[in-house]
Amino acid sequence: MTGQRSDAYRDDRAHVFHSWSAQRTLDPVVIEGGLGATFWDEAGTRYLDFSSQLVNLNLGHQHPRVVAAIQEQAAKLCTVAPTFGNAARSEAARLIAEAAPGDLQHVFFTNGGTEANEHAIRMARGTTGRHKILAAYRSYHGATTGSITLTGDPRRWANEPAMPGVVRFFGPYPYRSPFHAESPEQETERALQHLDEVFTMEGPQTIAAVILEPVVGTNGILVPPPGYLAGVRALCDRHGALLIADEVMSGFGRCGEWFAVDHWDVVPDLVTFAKGVNSGYVPLGGVILGPRVYETFADRPFPGGLTYSGHPLACAAAVATIEVMREERIPERVRDLGERVVRPRLEKLRDRHPSVGEIRGLGLFWAIELVRSQETREMLVPYNAAGPAAKPMADVIAACKARGVWPFTHFNRIHVVPPLIISEEDLLQGIDAIDDALEAAD
Ligand code: PLP
Repeated sequence: MTGQRSDAYRDDRAHVFHSWSAQRTLDPVVIEGGLGATFWDEAGTRYLDFSSQLVNLNLGHQHPRVVAAIQEQAAKLCTVAPTFGNAARSEAARLIAEAAPGDLQHVFFTNGGTEANEHAIRMARGTTGRHKILAAYRSYHGATTGSITLTGDPRRWANEPAMPGVVRFFGPYPYRSPFHAESPEQETERALQHLDEVFTMEGPQTIAAVILEPVVGTNGILVPPPGYLAGVRALCDRHGALLIADEVMSGFGRCGEWFAVDHWDVVPDLVTFAKGVNSGYVPLGGVILGPRVYETFADRPFPGGLTYSGHPLACAAAVATIEVMREERIPERVRDLGERVVRPRLEKLRDRHPSVGEIRGLGLFWAIELVRSQETREMLVPYNAAGPAAKPMADVIAACKARGVWPFTHFNRIHVVPPLIISEEDLLQGIDAIDDALEAAD
């Protein structure tokens, strides 16, 4: 709203302390409503939600089945302590276990992704009796003390030192290969050699787990080259460590499978999830446990828990979300849209713009990486701590918004991560708007 500001805006500026931001310079858009892949602000300006909020709004805004499930559960029972059984929680756990890879069958519920990773670490340490965790530089695992230590990207810097025992490694990134590899196959081979060396130098008998995002999310939508995930699985097995897949962003259909690891038939020991599990309508996350971890705690208490673990409103939303995803075959739809619509359209966009270094992704999980020069691959804006986007990235973002598209951006990248229910027409319209907006970076 120009001129006169609403109460919502004024109260926000007076009393809300926002995450990852300098408070005084913030100018938040106040969202009044949303439907499907669109939302609108107080002035009635509509945006195509190409960010799915924070890549969690998989079924779009106000899905009637999910809203009704929450309302029905609220009318029946609003809260229940985790020590009790509850139908919404049991059903959500069963549906999640049915979607899970391999033999992972038990679900520990949290309120979001960061808590899921915290508890996964505790499970891995308890199971192996070892303390070190190997985590990737290019990763985001959450904002609480343990998870921000696992996080490799600059959001970690201001929060150090935090949890002891985390050792970092480089994952594959063929476009900016840390291993100077010349092909995806070579990238896999060298990345696995490097990880094996990290195991050796750290002492394999001290390493409880490797945690990774199977398709790296906010750090660039990095799809692993062929053989990488299977190779990490084999290294973990060889050294007696657990493999934790952080599927908080990549899971529940985002990559065109229920979980990203399904693309490569890799079965982790633990899978962490949140976001898309219930489209973010009520906070929910968790850890799906394989047999090795489950058996460890079958006859001795697991030292961890949360008041709201398996909250009935959140679980009712998860049940409805997963049922809709099954009935409408959302993962298959996403896989098809990714290959048939998004990939060819982004390839065209790359060919038109000198500022586009690489496009990559799968399903509805894509990155457009922007550079100053295609030859040198110098990033359009520097790799740095969280904060407002620097020019000319800020101009690209403003140009997207002026064209009615709310983009997800990070450092020098635009991510194409719309709700999984987006129509083909809206999807193409959103990419067209980004295509136009990129003139600001060329
Ligand atoms: N792990 C990954 C891969 C994420 O992308 C995120 C959030 O973006 C998290 C963990 C943290 O989840 P939450 O913000 O729900 O705590």
